Amino acid sequence: MLGMLGGGQLGRFFVISAQKMGYQVTVLDPDKNSPAGKIANLHLCANYNDIGALKKIIQSCLAITTEFENIPATTLKFLEKDLIVRPSSDPVSIVQNRIFEKSFLKDNNFPVGPFVIISNIKAIDLVTDEMYPAILKIAQFGYDGKGQAYINNQKELISAFENFGNKPCVLEKKLVLDLEISVVLARGHDGSKINFPVVENQHVSGILDISIVPARVNKDLCNEAIRYAELVASKLNYIGVIAVEFFVSKGRIYVNEVAPRPHNSGHYTIDACDFNQFDLQVLTLTGNAIKSPVLKSNAVMVNLLGDRWFKNNQLNQPNFDLFKNVPNETLHIYGKNEARSGRKMGHFTLTGDNLNILLARAEEIKTLL
Ligand code: ADP
Ligand code: MG
Repeated sequence: MLGMLGGGQLGRFFVISAQKMGYQVTVLDPDKNSPAGKIANLHLCANYNDIGALKKIIQSCLAITTEFENIPATTLKFLEKDLIVRPSSDPVSIVQNRIFEKSFLKDNNFPVGPFVIISNIKAIDLVTDEMYPAILKIAQFGYDGKGQAYINNQKELISAFENFGNKPCVLEKKLVLDLEISVVLARGHDGSKINFPVVENQHVSGILDISIVPARVNKDLCNEAIRYAELVASKLNYIGVIAVEFFVSKGRIYVNEVAPRPHNSGHYTIDACDFNQFDLQVLTLTGNAIKSPVLKSNAVMVNLLGDRWFKNNQLNQPNFDLFKNVPNETLHIYGKNEARSGRKMGHFTLTGDNLNILLARAEEIKTLL
């Protein structure tokens, strides 16, 4: 029995991988309708700091992992006294807080864009005019562009900071992006590392829209991204699957952020590789050997947000029939009870040789849906 903290779609794909390998999975998630909880062998429907539930996990599980970075580090600390927890509380507590994360990256000489830590309203006085335009990001609990505000001047900065309840934030200079890329990497307990091919990511309103594999960037930039991702993992003493997001701006690479888990931009691995990012999450958790994946074909992955479930404000399921019996065009639906605007409901992946054809077909499917 393996444990999974969190019951979203990432947890659900982990359950599928683990069960395929013969493991059972206990999922802890307070939502009784969580996508992973629905297919787990056991769903503990309780809060992440529920001592009774955590004790049950310690008694029954061989090891535990997580699917989202906002798991309280105290929960991981409690579990790791008696159980294998991968990733452990130390790296998770760094990357779940943008202030700690940015400071870690800067202190270790990773390339990061200009940023200022805004712990309180006074810190705003120290922000120079070169920082604008900028993005204010709340230090904790932001995701998919939530907890972020675009800022053009000091006046807007003050009001955005107050809007965020004066909570600690990071102010980042808005970079002019050539494109965004990411690397999903696994690091074993013996320090061995393997990575999936570098992905190119296109976002809409701060949410991932399309991933393209392989990324259309030169080999040197790809290698640089992989090297930085490896370094992030080893400097964090990380065991498990980790994802590193990068900006490419004026030909230079910058680390954007780190996710202590498999990543939306790695979903293409399910259909385009000989094994996927969730398989590796199981293998690193159980201490099994890891080997390099093979990319069987190029791929384009498109996210399906809840907005597609509505037409003229009426609930209207997209036309998924078009995926029936079509090889190389695969639909994944996460089993969420309710569609909401901006909510990730599923994705589809197209595989094939020619990226231009795949991208054109992706646009066509979006319209047909
Ligand atoms: P999240 O946790 O929501 O993924 P990110 O920091 O990755 O937060 O921001 C989401 C997206 O917003 C990025 O992928 C990028 O498209 C855009 N973005 C964020 N920070 C910057 C920046 N400093 N300059 C330019 N674009 C940015
Ligand atoms: Mg991001």
